[in-house]
Amino acid sequence: MSSIEIKDLRHTYYNPHTRQQVLALDGVNLTVGDGEFVTVVGPSGCGKSTLLYLIAGLVRPSSGEIRVDGRVVSGPGSDRGMVFQEIAILPWRTVRQNIAHGLEIQGVAREVRETIVKRYVDLCGLNGFEDKYPYELSGGMRQRVAVARTLASNPKVVLMDEPFAALDAQTRITLAQELHRISLATSPTIIFVTHNVEEALYLGDKVVIMSRRPGRVKSIVSVPVPRAKR
Ligand code: ADP
Ligand code: ADP
Repeated sequence: MSSIEIKDLRHTYYNPHTRQQVLALDGVNLTVGDGEFVTVVGPSGCGKSTLLYLIAGLVRPSSGEIRVDGRVVSGPGSDRGMVFQEIAILPWRTVRQNIAHGLEIQGVAREVRETIVKRYVDLCGLNGFEDKYPYELSGGMRQRVAVARTLASNPKVVLMDEPFAALDAQTRITLAQELHRISLATSPTIIFVTHNVEEALYLGDKVVIMSRRPGRVKSIVSVPVPRAKR
């Protein structure tokens, strides 16, 4: 079963300063299966972030269609969660409160919320940090909170835009390994954008390579070694 179907997606931005149209996506087709981990690589400016924003419903495409679980995307929704490069967690809330935030919005009962929060605290290596505030945490720990928060609200699709790019090399490797383990334990559908080919091959079931000519998919490669064996 496929989770995401993208047909002939095109997008141009209008740049008011130069008064020119900027072509960002030029006819992208992509199908992502249920529980599949897809990584997207390509040079800066090739449209990777735009692709995620369109799937997230944060930007409306100029033309083409995106379906998530068969339904046409027409705006943001709780079926899609996003993790950004710039860490987006609430500074005035503790780790526990950040992870619980999406669940509160969904109206999940307190006891159920606590069980779910505990699960993602364990999964994301946040034990002992539950009552800390973001300013007390390193960049790597904050990004763990962002990942935990997004996964805890149980979106159908998780969209990750270079989530580890701002971290130092060692933390980046550790978090990629953690995400690998978490994705095997919880099997959400993930689209993960990165500049890092090694990261893409390590994490993905398939790798979408976008081309230097902006807005196009150059090729899609299935990674031969099953994810669970890496
Ligand atoms: P990256 O390669 O890491 O995606 P970019 O420099 O391409 O970084 O973009 C950084 C941010 O600036 C993105 O949010 C993008 O949408 C925005 N951006 C990029 N180009 C333009 C532009 N010409 N006008 C307005 N915003 C832009
Ligand atoms: P990537 O994530 O691969 O670096 P982006 O999706 O950020 O690529 O950008 C694709 C193209 O769209 C680039 O040429 C970028 O400058 C342009 N762009 C991105 N965001 C905006 C924006 N808000 N306004 C105008 N142009 C933009």
